[in-house]
Amino acid sequence: MKIGILKELQKGENRVSLSPFITKKLIEKGFEIFVEKNAGKNSLYKDEDFIEAGAKITSREKVFETAQVLIKINPFNEEDLKLVHKRHILMSQLFHKSSPKLIKAISEKGATAFSMDAMPRISRAQDMDVLSSQNNLAGYKAVILGAYKMTKIFPLMMTAAGTITPSKVLIYGVGVAGLQAIATAKRLGAVVEATDIRTETKEQTESLGAKFISVENNNEESEGGYAKEASEDYVKRQKEAVNKSLFEADLVITTANIPGKKAPTLITKEQVDQMKNGAVIIDIAADQGGNCELSVLNDTIIHNGVKVVGTSISLLSVSTNASELYAKNIYNFIIHLTEDLNFKWDLEEEITNETLIVQDGVQRKK
Ligand code: NAD
Repeated sequence: MKIGILKELQKGENRVSLSPFITKKLIEKGFEIFVEKNAGKNSLYKDEDFIEAGAKITSREKVFETAQVLIKINPFNEEDLKLVHKRHILMSQLFHKSSPKLIKAISEKGATAFSMDAMPRISRAQDMDVLSSQNNLAGYKAVILGAYKMTKIFPLMMTAAGTITPSKVLIYGVGVAGLQAIATAKRLGAVVEATDIRTETKEQTESLGAKFISVENNNEESEGGYAKEASEDYVKRQKEAVNKSLFEADLVITTANIPGKKAPTLITKEQVDQMKNGAVIIDIAADQGGNCELSVLNDTIIHNGVKVVGTSISLLSVSTNASELYAKNIYNFIIHLTEDLNFKWDLEEEITNETLIVQDGVQRKK
């Protein structure tokens, strides 16, 4: 089976979907790997590293021409689709619930597409779960970026010249990214608080030594471990519960998402007006519409002395580690889907069924 690795062309993206280490492992299993020239450059993988692992380096066009399976991290786009054929099997994140046009375009090509972000959140799929592997690293990087943007340090520091009090960090959304952000901020010595619409996250927050901010009478439901859109009443009560901490915070990290929907607006301009001069907001959900009303993707807005940094999982990626982990997820997925170098197409099996979005031009999932 011929597998093609495409360079990620999205602005600010430094990752690549396969590492030389995993390339070697796939080749040992009998797969042939074709890598677009310079695909790994921004993850510090040289073309020579891939060649040493047994892959062939070629042009983008040739990768499309030669490979049957095409692998990326970011969704295939219009330019990519010009080169996609019926025989291609695409593997990338597709965010199919919020990208109906893309899914229609893939279907019209008669191609087949698996979406890595549609991986079911079940134990046996954990080693193929790219949302977890990537969000975890982004949660770490969000804190580091915040620390860099702040004019204060995180820990309590007693010096001869006086005592520096610890910074206060507030985290919205205690999913994979939020949990890692809590752990990282705690390790750096900050006083950390967090909130989430899912009540089960209270225990997870506290187990990391942070304080959980509960919203009174929270009857909001979740589905398969994911949050649903909050009611207006909840949003109001959340503000009442969180505002005191928000107005005192030195760093706020927002990670709240609802699959297939715009990210919820949790911090309005009026709230930012009441925040401390010099506070920093790192909004990881800026590519999904943002958790802060003022966020602009890939930009920093200064409002009332507060820096609002609009970013995303992709922009925060720590490219070498993120590529390594994405590649391991892809390896486990390919091994899971194939037998003797052929796809099994076992649609009764949950992982295959959930991730296979388009099959031979037929859209299976909305
Ligand atoms: P996500 O990126 O979809 O959302 C991040 C967080 O934002 C979630 O915790 C969500 O509850 C929260 N949120 C949404 N709306 C909010 C609001 N209005 N106010 C406050 N918070 C809000 O989440 P994720 O990181 O992908 O994790 C989703 C779930 O999947 C979690 O339960 C996680 O533990 C679970 N998970 C399971 C596995 C597995 O079993 N294999 C792997 C990874 C994650």
